[in-house]
Amino acid sequence: MKFEEKLEQYAELAVKVGVNIQKGQYLLINTSTDALEFTRMVVKKAYEAGAGRVHVNLTDPYFTRAFYEFGNDEEFSKYPNWIVAQRDELIERKGALLWIDADDPDLLAGIPVGRISAQQKAAGEALVNYRKAVMNDDIAWSIIAVPSKKWAAKVFPHLPEDEQLDALWDAIFKTVRIGEGNAVEKWRKHVNDLEARAKQLNDKKYAKLHYKAPGTDLTIELPDKHIWASGSSKTPEGVTFIANMPTEEVFTLPYKYGVNGYVTNTKPLVYQGNVIDQFTLTFAKGRIVKAEAKVGNDLLQELIEVDEGSKYLGEVALVPHESPISTSGILYYNTLFDENASNHLAIGEAYPTCFEGGRDLEQTQLESLGINTSITHEDFMIGSGEMDIDGILPDGTVEPIFRNGNWTF
Ligand code: ZN
Ligand code: ZN
Repeated sequence: MKFEEKLEQYAELAVKVGVNIQKGQYLLINTSTDALEFTRMVVKKAYEAGAGRVHVNLTDPYFTRAFYEFGNDEEFSKYPNWIVAQRDELIERKGALLWIDADDPDLLAGIPVGRISAQQKAAGEALVNYRKAVMNDDIAWSIIAVPSKKWAAKVFPHLPEDEQLDALWDAIFKTVRIGEGNAVEKWRKHVNDLEARAKQLNDKKYAKLHYKAPGTDLTIELPDKHIWASGSSKTPEGVTFIANMPTEEVFTLPYKYGVNGYVTNTKPLVYQGNVIDQFTLTFAKGRIVKAEAKVGNDLLQELIEVDEGSKYLGEVALVPHESPISTSGILYYNTLFDENASNHLAIGEAYPTCFEGGRDLEQTQLESLGINTSITHEDFMIGSGEMDIDGILPDGTVEPIFRNGNWTF
């Protein structure tokens, strides 16, 4: 299949499977100049699929970096209302939201972490409606990624410069199942497989998971009414969408106060244009009581200090070590890809949809049930070929779930 054809398939996938655009629906796309060509194709496909109006917010890595480098100090604790208003109107109109990332993993390297965390916090506080809509699946949303030159150079430093971009395109196409055959059909089957896996875990109703690996010995309690979900989500109107492409995970939420032990990351975390790596988090009754990173420690501390909820976990996700992304052996320096190659956890907000009836609960009700809320949600990777996980049933029976990084069943 030619490159152009693959690109078209990808654009179509984003529109028809990712956000699953409906007749007359508004679509908001957030992307950057590095993804301009591809975004044009997505816009066309969206109209062809019946979108009412497509609006693109186009940023540029230079614009972003310039703000952090040259902006006034007092500006980082503010957040413009026009961005809030735009998203709120989209939610009100039941529009769909598509992120087309083309990140540079080192975009904000060297920027004072105080600026980054202040802006992160301001955005989190201002976008409260938006976050609720997304975490609750009230609107269809999806994140995909396309290569930028800087990102490709980070992933394939050993390749000649003129081959890096193509190599990253190839890798991304594989992860999103574009190649021979019909990608939309392949996704249907893939989503069914993930749903079957989630159902197996839901039938089990484990009370606890126990993780063991080098640098990790962690026990996570799951609430009675937890639900394992897969990458396929549904709006209240019954429209199915895929929030992350690629997606290989099944995930649920932990009991906020039931996490004990320590865990060490296995892939670098790119957070706000900076790399955090080689870190261990220690938990007592759910709370992070110790956090140390050999790389990016100051930013890790800022992440944990965002609010009360950023000191607790909000997501527990299982991905076999033999997932297609993992076996490619490529380290993407991008959470969208790296989290789908690895068991992971998230600091911060839990998905209320992972709890029976959770969608209808207010923040205070969620908190009283031990479901974490926060203005942040940040995944980090902990899986490896050396990870074993046991499931502990309510009666205390211990069953192996993962051995050497892979499902036992
Ligand atoms: Zn996840
Ligand atoms: Zn997550």
